[in-house]
Amino acid sequence: MSKKVLILSGDGIGPEILAEAIKVLNVLSVDFGLDIDLDNGLIGGAAIDAVGNPLPDETLDKAKEADAILLGAVGGPKWEPLDIANRPEKGLLKIRSELGLFANLRPALTAPQLVEASALKPEVVSGLDIMIVRELTGGIYFGQPRGIRELDNGEKEGFNTLVYSESEIRRIGHVAFKAAMKRDRRVCSIDKANVLEATELWREVMIDISKDYPEVELTHMYVDNAAMQLVRTPKQFDVMVTTNMFGDILSDLASMLTGSIGMLPSASLDKNGKGMYEPIHGSAPDIAGKNIANPLATILSVAMMLRYSLAEAEQANRVEKAVDVVLSAGYRTPDITSTGMKNVGTIEMGDAVVAALKG
Ligand code: NAD
Repeated sequence: MSKKVLILSGDGIGPEILAEAIKVLNVLSVDFGLDIDLDNGLIGGAAIDAVGNPLPDETLDKAKEADAILLGAVGGPKWEPLDIANRPEKGLLKIRSELGLFANLRPALTAPQLVEASALKPEVVSGLDIMIVRELTGGIYFGQPRGIRELDNGEKEGFNTLVYSESEIRRIGHVAFKAAMKRDRRVCSIDKANVLEATELWREVMIDISKDYPEVELTHMYVDNAAMQLVRTPKQFDVMVTTNMFGDILSDLASMLTGSIGMLPSASLDKNGKGMYEPIHGSAPDIAGKNIANPLATILSVAMMLRYSLAEAEQANRVEKAVDVVLSAGYRTPDITSTGMKNVGTIEMGDAVVAALKG
């Protein structure tokens, strides 16, 4: 039976990069027998403009039915004046929580061809291969109470709540340890246990879970030190597991080690392995509509989707190999270019991957 994939292009560069990912899926289906059924849905600013809601019920229903979801990005200056509860990003937070996508896997891998594109010295990043496991449906982004209130003295006060239950920590911990078992068997848990009780519990639970994985080495690091260590000696890490907000920040930081935010895919998984796949970057309104966005993070998200949710490891390898071939041939979008390379736009980069797939 065909696997159902829901395409949510979203805003800004979302539709441009998704168009290239769809080209790749079409080649896999026509030339390599991938049996999938693509459908489209509205999310984010595009959905607000069309129906006044960043996550229409119709999109949520389709997402629940799909085997996997491929997302571009949401948001942009057009919708910033809106109340925070009605902004495009709310659609994204809601789809993650409605589908129970609690585990966000963000590989930070430096392609050998892009070592020079990193902001760091080649010897620091060459061979880098980190997996950041970020908790995605809890913590301060979802904790209640939250809001902006007026105090008795008339001053305004903004407040949010950092809250983690033991079971929330436990399930993300298991994802991290299982990922480590397939890698170098090292987990570094990132917290701020010296200041925040919620992460004191985080640390306790991680230590408890580690007893189930005697072959995996567990270490702990405070988030401020982790930010420093990621820039100083990033290759010391194998799997990093952390909270929603710390993971948000550290994974963007890690992206710059690899050359560009335009290169990094991500997977957000539920407890059964169903997932939503998206590049880690946002809608990049500053470059939208210019045919210069790098589509490779989205194309590599397709590979993750094939591997994790569609049980198509061979097709995933095919896509990753094609991206490797294209980088080796010198194709570069502006975010990863250097002298002597073949400078191309979004569409041309997608075409190059398609050509590499077809051999
Ligand atoms: P961003 O990731 O969109 O852009 C940061 C910088 O990286 C920009 O200079 C941009 O041009 C560049 N960039 C991003 N993707 C690129 C690509 N594929 N190729 C080349 N360069 C790329 O982050 P931002 O500017 O902080 O946010 C812009 C909007 O995106 C905001 O509305 C924000 O809320 C939203 N956002 C959405 C998501 C998501 O949908 N998952 C994630 C982060 C931010």
